[in-house]
Amino acid sequence: MFDYTKYFDTCLDRLHAEKRYRIFRNIARERGNFPTAKLNDSGTTKTITVWCSNDYLGMGQNTVVLKAIHDAVEQFGAGAGGTRNISGTHKLIVELEDELADLHNKEAALVFTSGYIANEASLSTLGAMIKDCVIISDSENHASMIEGIRHSKAKKFIFRHNDVDHLEELLKDIPKETPKIVAFEALYSMDGDRAPLKEIIDVSKKYGALTYVDETHSVALYGPRGGGLLEDTGLLDEVDIIQGGLGKGVGVVGGFITASRRIVDLIRSHGAGFIFTTALPPMVAAGALASIRYLKENQTERIALLTTANKVKQKMLERDLPILLTDTHIVPFMVRDSQLCQEIADILLHDFNIYIQPINYPTVPRGSERLRITPSPLHTDKMIDHLVNSLSKVWGRYSEKLTGLSIMESNVRV
Ligand code: PLP
Repeated sequence: MFDYTKYFDTCLDRLHAEKRYRIFRNIARERGNFPTAKLNDSGTTKTITVWCSNDYLGMGQNTVVLKAIHDAVEQFGAGAGGTRNISGTHKLIVELEDELADLHNKEAALVFTSGYIANEASLSTLGAMIKDCVIISDSENHASMIEGIRHSKAKKFIFRHNDVDHLEELLKDIPKETPKIVAFEALYSMDGDRAPLKEIIDVSKKYGALTYVDETHSVALYGPRGGGLLEDTGLLDEVDIIQGGLGKGVGVVGGFITASRRIVDLIRSHGAGFIFTTALPPMVAAGALASIRYLKENQTERIALLTTANKVKQKMLERDLPILLTDTHIVPFMVRDSQLCQEIADILLHDFNIYIQPINYPTVPRGSERLRITPSPLHTDKMIDHLVNSLSKVWGRYSEKLTGLSIMESNVRV
């Protein structure tokens, strides 16, 4: 008979051998003290500074958001009580969807339990429902988009990352009357680079394709009201479907799309990942709603985030540390070796009380392993100095082991 134990052990051993076994850090963020947290490690506890959170603006700590969540728990209790289909839609979710539609100047919005599900359900539904649809997808799209496209069973083409000429070559060869969707991200979270939004939108329109843009890492962070990079560049009205997350810049959990009423209605009516799952709890909807409303009115967090990110980048450059230069808030520190990446992360944590999670294959290609640093408005100058000094010391010890290191540039400069 099949030896399941041996099989599972072999699979896990392979991960260890390839130095990409995932170690989850046991940490507790403390209200009011972000970006510090308590690390629980082998029975001991110590205070660390988190430099890898996607709560980019610190909204998970924002008092307005916390109050809204507390009030909702008091008023409505804990869970949603079921799927929206069979147990009713909470009024806070309706309000949240109205607020999101307004944020993107679209007719409608649909909320999902995560950004992952938003992508998977929306792309799988669109690709399956639109007969003979062809999906053209950026080569660095997130796993949730790839899964959605795969599940749709639609024909797909991959265009080289951010390569508009390649996209056009592919579009040119698809018959004009064939329905098409061009799917891409506004901001790629591993390299911190932006999509050439205008160019991709223009070429998609030229060949009659719908555009589907993932703003997971940019919504709340960019644009005068936090609408994302499309708002920032005045392109909100030029795209058909915008996907976003509520767990990163917004600071809570969940995902959404905004689009025309009929596109939203189609996905609401057919998306399995939307229909057959318990809705977001009212307290989460309340927190997301408060966060989005707050960020529509306040620039403070957005400005402070970019100020901190620029300080981190500047200080890293002064020390000749190998970062990818971007014009976004993400600072990838390129180690390019999975074992070293893990070792450096361990030393930073144990000797310097700095937590940065190593990013290894398959999240990034082999040979591009990195420490992905995510500054926030709540990191102080002292914390930045400690980060740069510590990285400098540790990198000094390790860089001799590696050859050909230099400061790398992504496709967009600071
Ligand atoms: N889209 C992109 C580009 C992402 O990076 C992620 C997650 O990091 C998601 C979607 C999924 O978002 P969520 O964490 O809300 O499921």
